[in-house]
Amino acid sequence: MKPRVLIVEDEEAQAELLRYNFDREGFDVLVAGDADEAFVYVDEHQPDLVLLDWMLPGVSGISVCQRLRARPETKALPIIMLTARGEEGDRVRGLESGADDYVVKPFLPSELVARVRAVLRRARPALSEERLTSGDIVMDLSTHRVTRRGKPIHLGPTEFRLLRLFMERPDRVFSREQLLDKVWGRDIHVELRTVDVHIRRLRKALGTHGDDDVIRTVRGTGYALDAMPVN
Ligand code: CA
Repeated sequence: MKPRVLIVEDEEAQAELLRYNFDREGFDVLVAGDADEAFVYVDEHQPDLVLLDWMLPGVSGISVCQRLRARPETKALPIIMLTARGEEGDRVRGLESGADDYVVKPFLPSELVARVRAVLRRARPALSEERLTSGDIVMDLSTHRVTRRGKPIHLGPTEFRLLRLFMERPDRVFSREQLLDKVWGRDIHVELRTVDVHIRRLRKALGTHGDDDVIRTVRGTGYALDAMPVN
């Protein structure tokens, strides 16, 4: 899923430059030209992060930031303030108003993208799409490491792909045919019972440290991962 960023900036050229760069970097981009529009977009589209210009017509970026922080539903929404001012006092005011970071214009778009990614990683690790979490199970997709309650779980490549599929769609029931299709691929001829063999291996691996079985067998249908509450 693409991370969604809301750019709140009244200067069109600046807004378009940002839109272009974030779009190119794989973000889903929204642009609001003033505070009122920003609140509408925040409520309707639930962005993952807001890039907020300090100088907006009418209402200042600082006050937009404070208002977002004051509302329960946007209290934790990551906000990066953009400003032409570079004085230390402004920086402090920006951060005191609740912004997660503060970037002074002019900046390199690539630098801003990196700052946005850093804030997103801190705020919502799942968005970086490098980590999947279900209850006490964590999959790191870049290092291929899997842990349960922090202890390592060793999986073969097929079990890794199976678990990934389950963790990307918790609670969904997959038939054996669907698992074959998604994990082994359409063109490979594998018997259906091969799926059962690998499910058994996955179950065993996930139970290495004596934890509960979270793979549910749905009789006559297939398998699902029981979504677990995060402790
Ligand atoms: Ca402005």
